[in-house]
Amino acid sequence: MFTQHPGGLRLLTVHAHPDDESSKGAATLARYVAEGVDVLVATCTGGERGSVLNPAMDRPEVRGNLTRIRREEMAAAREILGVRQQFLGFVDSGMPGPDEPLPEGCFAAQSVEVAAAPLVALIREFRPHVVITYDETGGYPHPDHVMTHQVAVEAFEAAADPKRYPEAGEPWQAAKLYYHLALSRAWFQTLHEAMTERGVPSAMGELLAGWPDTPPALATTTRIACSEQFAIRDAAMLAHATQVEPGVAFMAHPRDVESEVWPTEDYHLARSFVGEAWAGGAAEAGSESVGVETDLFAGLRAGSGEGME
Ligand SMILES: [Zn+2]
Repeated sequence: MFTQHPGGLRLLTVHAHPDDESSKGAATLARYVAEGVDVLVATCTGGERGSVLNPAMDRPEVRGNLTRIRREEMAAAREILGVRQQFLGFVDSGMPGPDEPLPEGCFAAQSVEVAAAPLVALIREFRPHVVITYDETGGYPHPDHVMTHQVAVEAFEAAADPKRYPEAGEPWQAAKLYYHLALSRAWFQTLHEAMTERGVPSAMGELLAGWPDTPPALATTTRIACSEQFAIRDAAMLAHATQVEPGVAFMAHPRDVESEVWPTEDYHLARSFVGEAWAGGAAEAGSESVGVETDLFAGLRAGSGEGME
């Protein structure tokens, strides 16, 4: 089903719910689309158990048709981003309370081996050079985000192994696996300070006050300059109208300040089959001054050394 672009580069990003592709790494996707990279978003669940987070949309007819509406929102967002997108067909696990069991049959209740099967088939069909997903923590403690990490790592490895999932197509080894470092404490802190210095009211202080200032667990190995695509990112976010309230939270800070003080989206290179310099996750947290990549396809383009600074 995918038309292969001979010699072209392909990027696959794996997300839990519709809207996650627009809140984490969306400007990166738009930047690579602008460069002619073939970008595919895999969305593990339909977001069926999400809440309506925008008061203006919180109406009975919206709550009663959330599955359909979230599909329509996803279709609008993928048009805006210029990406292809495919649902993997699992059901949202919701956010169970501390002692609540997972709903029966939901995504996070599957075995990793079963849940990874559609993604293995997709990787073998699309043949991405680069795969992006969440780190072990899921980025935040939603069971679908943690499961998405497990499934993406399993599929990244298994897709290359001819003995695994033999019915799912010809083996394909993606060259690199990255984890998002989006919405880090450092990002909030930098924006909060920049806004405060400029006399712009910041709502981030309260969040930062309750967030321990411990060193990040994963090194920033890769920074993608994408401030030119922030407007596309924002439009894609707003297309998920049930999930985002205009002017609040992530939508609140001035974009010119963000472009000035944090014009990148950042990543941790977790696995690499490119050269020796980037052998999987070798960089240590805090060592980001050494050879930060500026391109997810560094080492994969004609001419080595490109995309490093
Ligand atoms: Zn999500």
